[in-house]
Amino acid sequence: MRLRLKGARVVDPGSIDDYKDIIIFDGMIEAVIDPSSPYPPVMLDSSDPSSVTKGLKSEENDTNYSEAGKIGVDNFPVEEGDTNYSEKGKVEASPTVSGEGYTNCSKEADITEIDLAGMVVVPGLIDMHVHLREPGQEYKETIETGLKAAARGGFTAVCPMPNTNPVNDNAQITAFMVNRAKSLGGTRLYPVGAITRGLKGENLAEYGDMKQAGIVAITDDGRPVENARVMRRAMEYARGLGIPVISHAEDLSLAGDGSMNEGIVATRLGIKGIPNAAESTVVMRDIALAELTGARLHIAHVSCEESVDAIRQGKKRGVNVTAETAPHYFTITDEAVAEYDTNAKMNPPLRTEQDRLAVIEGLSDGTLDIIATDHAPHSLLEKDVEFDRAAFGIVGLETALGLSLQLVNNGSLTFDELIEKMSKKPAALLNINNDIVPGNPADLTIIDPDAFWSVNPETFFSKGRNTPFAGYHLRGEVYMTMVQGTIAYHRTDGGQ
Ligand SMILES: [Zn+2]
Repeated sequence: MRLRLKGARVVDPGSIDDYKDIIIFDGMIEAVIDPSSPYPPVMLDSSDPSSVTKGLKSEENDTNYSEAGKIGVDNFPVEEGDTNYSEKGKVEASPTVSGEGYTNCSKEADITEIDLAGMVVVPGLIDMHVHLREPGQEYKETIETGLKAAARGGFTAVCPMPNTNPVNDNAQITAFMVNRAKSLGGTRLYPVGAITRGLKGENLAEYGDMKQAGIVAITDDGRPVENARVMRRAMEYARGLGIPVISHAEDLSLAGDGSMNEGIVATRLGIKGIPNAAESTVVMRDIALAELTGARLHIAHVSCEESVDAIRQGKKRGVNVTAETAPHYFTITDEAVAEYDTNAKMNPPLRTEQDRLAVIEGLSDGTLDIIATDHAPHSLLEKDVEFDRAAFGIVGLETALGLSLQLVNNGSLTFDELIEKMSKKPAALLNINNDIVPGNPADLTIIDPDAFWSVNPETFFSKGRNTPFAGYHLRGEVYMTMVQGTIAYHRTDGGQ
């Protein structure tokens, strides 16, 4: 089936920002054309059949539009058994020209149009930090519910962390995750493998085997790698394999048994605190190790000003470091804990207003490259308890784009910058090609930029309901998520 996505603004930062129609065939982007252009593209003067051959080239996958955005015929589909074309795609003879002035391809000319007027089409969003809980804790989330939540959140790909049970520290578990996701279809899954076996911080896992099975990075997320020598060795091996090392930066001796940010709110509430330094000291250590080893280092879930500063300095020195933050760190502060709301309990914890503003500054000046969710579903059992006993973590897949768009609505980021951070940068880091160009899979996120909606956890596709954003009114929401040309999510009503 051939699809024509019609009437939308197409934004692929750095290459396209214009009203274009996207033609999709067999799951792939076939052409990006002007809205007024017919498709198939070759208009002929029926009195001059020879004109059909004009401008044809034989190379496949040649660029199919000029600077002006007009489609050429180079990329015109060649189907098996279509006698119109020789092996190399050249038009053979004139008798196939139809009276309407199109080449004879009425079969292919059946195009299903999807009207996207008022929408914005962007390269598929990628969430490089999620916890899908399978295998081992399927009562919290499964790969199936997690991927459905991801699609609903506009994500065409997600990267599950290895702290499952058993841990994803070997190729068998990696393969299980990959195969489970493939059997489900929809949002793609790229697993992240463990740095150390069993996340114990001692012996390195088998990165080469896991990479062959599909991992795109390594981390012990949920736990830091406490031993710097182990982290150094991990970076050396990862460098050889060309995969990034993701740091969960936390000094456990400083974090102690704290449950929220250390500061005046914690003091007021009588809750034990976790200082910024529990994060920033390990960020600094890992930047030093990346400098030593030349590895690609990625800092997960940056929450505080000191970490942003350390990463900014590291980048200035030319260290190969990237970093992510999550929507909660730029949206709310430790004040959200004030009513002992366990849905505001996460690790690292929500920080102060000064930290929140520093995170936004870091996003704005490029210090923080990526927005990820750290989607961490828990059951009610683990959250509906006293604050200090509650589990750390919140769900994020279905609120991430809406919350992040508020940075655009309030002028903190441009729309292009946001799409860089939610799509292009994670794609580049993980070697995923999601550019909107002919020949690439049609992995696309379609945003309704002006829709107003309210966060209602009861409607989440995720099994998790643990969000501090219930009742938030947001502008801008996901309209459709398309993976390999197939609709993985479609908002069917006028909004939520
Ligand atoms: Zn973490």
